[in-house]
Amino acid sequence: MDSKNIEEIVKKVLESMTGTAVPARGASSSREIPKTARVAKLVEKGRFEIQEYPLPEVGDGDILVKVEGCGVCGTDAHEFKNDPFGLIPVVLGHEGTGEIVKMGKNVKADSAGKPLRLGDKVVTCMIFKDNPEITMFDLNKQNVGGADVYGLLPDDEVRFNGWFADYILIRKGSTVFNVSDLDLASRVLIEPCAVLVHAVERAKTTGILRFNSRVAVQGCGPIGLICIAVLRTMGIEHITAVDGEPKRLEFAKRMGASETVNFKDYKGIEALAGAVEASFGGHLADFAFQCTGSPAAHSNIYKFIRNGGGLCELGFFINGGDATINPHFDLCAKEITLVGSWVYTLRDYATTFDFLKRAKGIGLPMGELITHTFPLDKINEALKTNLSMQGLKIAVINE
Ligand SMILES: [Zn+2]
Repeated sequence: MDSKNIEEIVKKVLESMTGTAVPARGASSSREIPKTARVAKLVEKGRFEIQEYPLPEVGDGDILVKVEGCGVCGTDAHEFKNDPFGLIPVVLGHEGTGEIVKMGKNVKADSAGKPLRLGDKVVTCMIFKDNPEITMFDLNKQNVGGADVYGLLPDDEVRFNGWFADYILIRKGSTVFNVSDLDLASRVLIEPCAVLVHAVERAKTTGILRFNSRVAVQGCGPIGLICIAVLRTMGIEHITAVDGEPKRLEFAKRMGASETVNFKDYKGIEALAGAVEASFGGHLADFAFQCTGSPAAHSNIYKFIRNGGGLCELGFFINGGDATINPHFDLCAKEITLVGSWVYTLRDYATTFDFLKRAKGIGLPMGELITHTFPLDKINEALKTNLSMQGLKIAVINE
């Protein structure tokens, strides 16, 4: 047993006696917080600049977090390339996580009521400026689409508004969760996983998705792959993944797909639908998830679904154009129940923490979704790697 182990044990004993966390040696305390720190600011389309600012005052309801890592989202990539949200100059990064290094005297617990202490690992969800008293239990129906999110806030005098930075200031009125029981990779994946937890919740509202359902998942980027993992952790066994990349299809199997169909092997939608049908032993899908941003893929997916089946469309996070369907054949005659899905609620966020533990428990390789990591000062490369469609999930990981 080395001194580090002993230190851990002493710390645990002290914690159990006093109920308060004792910061481990080397853990952050206020005297170790530097005067200034870096942010990666998008200063023009296609270019982040590393800028250094004095760290802001931490108010009574605020939390200062030392950033450990942050995933690069498709939203970041769009903003980097074209500024569709008109946010420049902006510190991006909303899939971040880090450690509490300082907090105001009024901060006691996270948005789920779990105690918060120095050294805890946290993530943020949405910010309710207009109603800071709102709690996660009010929010079954309120979707994050209408709220603010760190990493998509306009620049202001605080500066530390996004997770692509050394530090972030979590202001009073924000939602924050203590996720100290999850590893770094899981914590970086919480935000995208919440999108799929929400999509599956939407799918369940149709009453069609069941344990023994045959489910087709179209698109095996991060969203489709996580979709498969969520379905698998729910106990759904018959999952066919559809994509055009053999490598992604292989990974889909490791995430829980029972069968795969490479659409490039089939000419025309009839042949492709036949392959999906064959993958389920001669049955069409009871339910399908559309996880690509391709209008043609939306048009096609109806052909994979049986009469009376269901469809969840969640692939279009930006406007990808119009899709053509035949309302008679695709919807009416088949009595398809269609739901759309958009981001998540706070409740879904909390469900996601449990999903990640279950996924790990049944051996799904969630951490391998993060295929590329970059330090903060290589953020331009990180975004370019994302745009080049290499790999799956790209993350900025701080030293
Ligand atoms: Zn995102």
